[in-house]
Amino acid sequence: MPELPEVESVRRSLAPHVIGRRVVRARARRRDVVRGKASPGALLEGDRIRHLHRRGKQLGIEGEGGGVIVVHLGMSGQLLTADRSRRYPSHTHVVWKFDDFDDLQSTRGLLFRDPRRFGGVWTFPSLEHARRERWDELGPEGTEISSSDLSRALAGSRRRIKSLLLMQERVAGLGNIYADESLFRAGVSPWRQANSLEPEEMADLARSIREVLVSASDRGGSTLSDEGYVNADGEPGSFQDELRVYGRGGASCVRCGGELAQDRLEQRSTVWCPTCQP
Ligand SMILES: [Zn+2]
Repeated sequence: MPELPEVESVRRSLAPHVIGRRVVRARARRRDVVRGKASPGALLEGDRIRHLHRRGKQLGIEGEGGGVIVVHLGMSGQLLTADRSRRYPSHTHVVWKFDDFDDLQSTRGLLFRDPRRFGGVWTFPSLEHARRERWDELGPEGTEISSSDLSRALAGSRRRIKSLLLMQERVAGLGNIYADESLFRAGVSPWRQANSLEPEEMADLARSIREVLVSASDRGGSTLSDEGYVNADGEPGSFQDELRVYGRGGASCVRCGGELAQDRLEQRSTVWCPTCQP
């Protein structure tokens, strides 16, 4: 499932292809993938793309006319650039075609595909509407979270620290991979009650979250299988080589050499080092 670094990598790879391009045609091939108005105008037909935003794991495509399309990739969603030679891949639900008078080599359009359909597209008349209806409820951005932000977000809860980190209204951007990685780097067990963390542990954890999300974004995210995440150019990420615990249950800890433990924590597969994360 794409987490903040994968979504940020999509945003960065998409930007040079779409910023400034005029949408000559926008169509939802599956109406139920679009929440809100699905008219061509609401999907920015006739408009020029001004900016790409990201908030947590969501992308925002803003037109010069002020309209905004919010895209959530869900489990398997992709935003891909399209060229004239390529047929639409299966499960392409929304298509934007660009004018192509300027450069015959440039990208012809943008596709949203989502085989498992846990993702979706929301249309809003303005950025303010998108913020109010989708983004204000999210917690602080994981890439910028301070120790005091994190303390406030966890607010004395007795729940397991990992399950809170996965809640987007507490911290925006973390999913299963980067929650496990952040906890390992901070030396904090995923099973700890959030309200048991000392101030220094809270500071270490906030720093680890920032570092993991920022470096993973700079490495293009993590691609864990052949069918896994790719950016808008169809390229995989490389942060999977830096993962220290995720997917490594039973292997040896890179820090102490002991065996990494694996278990389910509230339905989510979780890997940690019992020695380094007491
Ligand atoms: Zn260890």
